[in-house]
Amino acid sequence: MTIIDGKQTAADLRTAIKQQTDTRIARGLSKPGLAVILVGENPASEVYVRNKCNACEEVGFYSLSKTFPYGVTEEELLNLINDLNNNSAINGILVQLPLPEHINEEKIIEAIDPLKDVDGFHPYNIGRLALRMPVLRSCTPKGIMTLLASTGISLEGKEAVVIGASNIVGRPVSLELLMARCTVTTCHSRTIDLEAHVRRADIIIAAVGIPGFVKGDWVKPGAVVIDVGINRLDTGKLVGDVDFAGAAKNASWITPVPGGVGPMTIASLLENTLQAAELQSS
Ligand code: NAP
Repeated sequence: MTIIDGKQTAADLRTAIKQQTDTRIARGLSKPGLAVILVGENPASEVYVRNKCNACEEVGFYSLSKTFPYGVTEEELLNLINDLNNNSAINGILVQLPLPEHINEEKIIEAIDPLKDVDGFHPYNIGRLALRMPVLRSCTPKGIMTLLASTGISLEGKEAVVIGASNIVGRPVSLELLMARCTVTTCHSRTIDLEAHVRRADIIIAAVGIPGFVKGDWVKPGAVVIDVGINRLDTGKLVGDVDFAGAAKNASWITPVPGGVGPMTIASLLENTLQAAELQSS
């Protein structure tokens, strides 16, 4: 069994992005620019936003964050997005989710210029992915595909089972795997005999949000296991959706939590921001 080291892969990716950014600036083009919008005072979201802005600085991007109070109106948010859509210093716009209940999340996401949608959540970008013509790809699924590529394993024809069907992870990663020519099964809370699906998988992607949901003995010998889950136990320990110790006995490759998929999400966001900048300057 080999651990898939997301921390190292993400660090390598950041180094490559920094080099490409330096080359871009040497060509006389602007620094890639990312705008992050945060609503309310959610401590976890504040940490995510800070990490994203720090990561931008590390690779030589320009970044700005705009924080609104919880009571912000939809109109105020839409006005800011409109300004950022028309701001040539900004190549990527990210709205930190979740938003308060009085704000229509779909309306906000759809207001972002699809070529600045670096989260890859806009229906345009999800639709392009579904049609095998991706432009800006959702960050966590894209990071998962980078990790799978790092193993050197051919994905073609493999049985891939995705557990979870959310708009931000399960669905787009299923589309990614289908594009990579896997045979894909997407499981969710209404799936009958989920264990049987997992047992025949060559590739298991767990994105459920329940600690230890995937039992070690469900993992077929030689399977690749990608654990997307980030769950904080009462003890403060961070664990994934997979029983790591049990699964590691059968898996050929497995991601740890933390240090697996997590670090890849921000690295993919940086990749997308650079890609958006290149698209907008061409
Ligand atoms: P989510 O929106 O809550 O979706 C969870 C999915 O799991 C849903 O599709 C749900 O089914 C399914 N599910 C729930 N209980 C189930 C059960 N008992 N059996 C089978 N399926 C079940 O969660 P998410 O946003 O996709 O996130 C999933 C996990 O990944 C969380 O732990 C989250 O923290 C983590 N995450 C990590 C990263 C990262 O960067 N590493 C990024 C995003 C999310 P239904 O569709 O039927 O409700």
